[in-house]
Amino acid sequence: MQFIETRGNDGSKPSSVPFSEAILSPSASFGGLYVPEKLPNINNQFLETHLTSHYKALALDFLTQFGIDIEQEVLKEALSRYDAFDDASNPVPLSKVEDDCFVSELYHGPTRAFKDMALQPFGYVLSKLAQKRGENYLIMAATSGDTGPATLETFKNQEGVQVACLYPDGGTSDVQRLQMVTEDAKNLKVIGVHGNFDDTQNTLKKLLASEEFKEELASRDIKLSAANSVNFGRIIFQIIYHIHSYLELVRKEEIAMGEKIYLVVPSGNFGNALGAYYAKKAGLPIEKILISSNVNNILTDWINTGEYDLTTRSIVQTESPAMDILKSSNVERIMFDKFGAARTKELMEALERDNKYSLTKDELARLREDFDASFSDDEECESVVGAYAQKEYIMDPHTATCMKAYETLRTKNLKTVVYSTAEWTKFSPAVAKALGKDVTADTEALKWVSNTANVSVPSMIEGLFSKPIAHTVIVEKEDIQGEMLNFL
Ligand SMILES: *Cc1c(COP(=O)(O)O)cnc(C)c1O
Repeated sequence: MQFIETRGNDGSKPSSVPFSEAILSPSASFGGLYVPEKLPNINNQFLETHLTSHYKALALDFLTQFGIDIEQEVLKEALSRYDAFDDASNPVPLSKVEDDCFVSELYHGPTRAFKDMALQPFGYVLSKLAQKRGENYLIMAATSGDTGPATLETFKNQEGVQVACLYPDGGTSDVQRLQMVTEDAKNLKVIGVHGNFDDTQNTLKKLLASEEFKEELASRDIKLSAANSVNFGRIIFQIIYHIHSYLELVRKEEIAMGEKIYLVVPSGNFGNALGAYYAKKAGLPIEKILISSNVNNILTDWINTGEYDLTTRSIVQTESPAMDILKSSNVERIMFDKFGAARTKELMEALERDNKYSLTKDELARLREDFDASFSDDEECESVVGAYAQKEYIMDPHTATCMKAYETLRTKNLKTVVYSTAEWTKFSPAVAKALGKDVTADTEALKWVSNTANVSVPSMIEGLFSKPIAHTVIVEKEDIQGEMLNFL
């Protein structure tokens, strides 16, 4: 199975590459992304076969059918990372919250956000590839809170990979910051930056584009890769839990095999939703994928009107910060799949040049065959969190954006899976507020919510507050390059 490029081939790169190449060097011709040439077939027989499978067995078979160039032994070892999730027998439990609505909890891994679902096995695969080739990779991440901890956690003490993680000082929650600065390993560097997330991300982009920096890396024999969802190595693991959630519904006798369901996906960079799209395309019986956003609702517009317009927008900070995103990278992979490389290149170039593009009426209709979308503001989310707390289910603000989509977008009476992308413990002040208490410090909010709602705080969150701080560097934007070269 080979991987091809969303904006076509520029002649200097091979016209298709194997999986290993696509994940080690994820940037494709013309600034595009890698996508699989074809998908495995998730037919009823595949689903029947896995009705009693463990998550890892389902995953291994799916990855094998994908025909990726990674040895079985490496894949098995990578998937065994799920053994460290809360329940080794089922890393992704499904909770019933309404007669026809189920929450698939993707946050039971080490950093309490759904990023672990993909980054845990991906980190192992990438570092094994680097070791096998005798190469050294640098992964740089700018994070607003969830990607950073999950990237550090998966690569710590892994040979062949070094990770540098930049975060905006004061721009993350206490828990998120502590998850990063207490992560102590020789191959990890965490740098706080004076500025907001946009400043941090722009600094990183400049650094990655700088010739001087590239030469420095080359002279040290270090190659650059990426661990965000532009890397297909993340996406491939994000197809599997959609299949698993479907099978959970069958196992619980909530649906018959083959019955269609809705999925609701709280979205930012659209990696989770793209995984759902590939699952649907491969044959999983999905009626539609409902996309939920916060007030940074560019995806709602894209899916409802066909307009992707950055000119009238700037990022608004919300209580669901992992979705405070306007340039959603995986939208490009959907457009490639539906409209082809030439049109995708045209649209993405328009976005770079004019900061906007419009789909044609026909293109919009094709997009809406698979997707519908809505958004919720912070107030609406707080009232959802409050209402479900009454029913003794505590959800985080990202998950809460899904409930309006569930309530308003369905046109058929079908069972629905809502994805929970973070545990409440990562966003405890917002959850406390929703339950009626204004507290700003995470320690206090964790304690208050835990007592009030009678829910426990897991040890890896509790333990953060007494763990030694390993990274204390906070720099001005201008000083990042020097700081990085010191580390390398
Ligand atoms: C990353 C993240 C999202 C957005 O996921 P995408 O795949 O980027 O759309 C949503 N919620 C949480 C808590 C996240 O960490």
